[in-house]
Amino acid sequence: MQVITTICELKEHLKTLQGSIGLVPTMGALHKGHISLIEKSVKENDFTVVSVFVNPTQFLPNEDLDKYPRNEEGDKKVCELCKVDVLFMPLAKEMYFEDEPLIKAPAKIASILEGATRPGHFDGVLRVLNKFFNIVRPTRAYFGKKDAQQVAIVKNIVKTFFMPLEIVPCDIIREADGLALSSRNVYLDEEQKLSALKLSRSLLKAGNLIKSGEMDSNAIKLEMKKILEPLKVDYVAIVDREFREVSKVELENTIILVAAYVGNTRLIDNIWV
Ligand code: AMP
Repeated sequence: MQVITTICELKEHLKTLQGSIGLVPTMGALHKGHISLIEKSVKENDFTVVSVFVNPTQFLPNEDLDKYPRNEEGDKKVCELCKVDVLFMPLAKEMYFEDEPLIKAPAKIASILEGATRPGHFDGVLRVLNKFFNIVRPTRAYFGKKDAQQVAIVKNIVKTFFMPLEIVPCDIIREADGLALSSRNVYLDEEQKLSALKLSRSLLKAGNLIKSGEMDSNAIKLEMKKILEPLKVDYVAIVDREFREVSKVELENTIILVAAYVGNTRLIDNIWV
């Protein structure tokens, strides 16, 4: 595996590769969720590039950029074990220029839910991904459904900017107790981890209600909110795959999402039904 930190070196190395390239963009502190994306990419492509970059432009001024978990050595080991070809760990000063055109994520989809609480977040995500896509020119790029709104917004830019790559959404990986894996879970103590289970349990309840024939969004959201008590809930939402709110669940085209605070840690989770 090559560990590369400069764009110039990466471009030179990529020139020597013949075949399909899978890109897995991450912010590091790699866990089993990331590993599932990496394994899928390794299986589906001739070469896999994993990027580890804590992207400053997708954090709001009051967010956890400085204390975001970092584990460079661990990340190298994980990538090595997964048979990654290139681990790309660029420096922010190489990625960004003083004066550069900005991308604005479309308001309809990017100003709601995550975008309402984190205004500008998706602009930063698209800004860095546009760069990664141009540097790596991947055949496919792998994203977790855990960040469902991100998947929809990235698919949108690829389609509307006619970008020559395929976006591959990957299933959410959970702990045995249901907690969705997240780098931010390290902020939780044991008691908070138990409280955090309320998110996945509320979604399980939603799934069971739907299986029993309840399709009314308000009724489902009400039951979810009961389970989420007493957490501070940011949103419970039921949307279609284009992120339009729906009053009735339509099977194969619905996403049920929740965002809530456990202590100071903001967690998100969702199910696709
Ligand atoms: P992050 O490092 O948090 O930016 O995540 C990098 C990628 O891993 C994103 O596409 C996430 O959606 C994905 N990811 C994070 N956690 C999980 C998980 N529990 N299951 C599947 N994918 C995940």
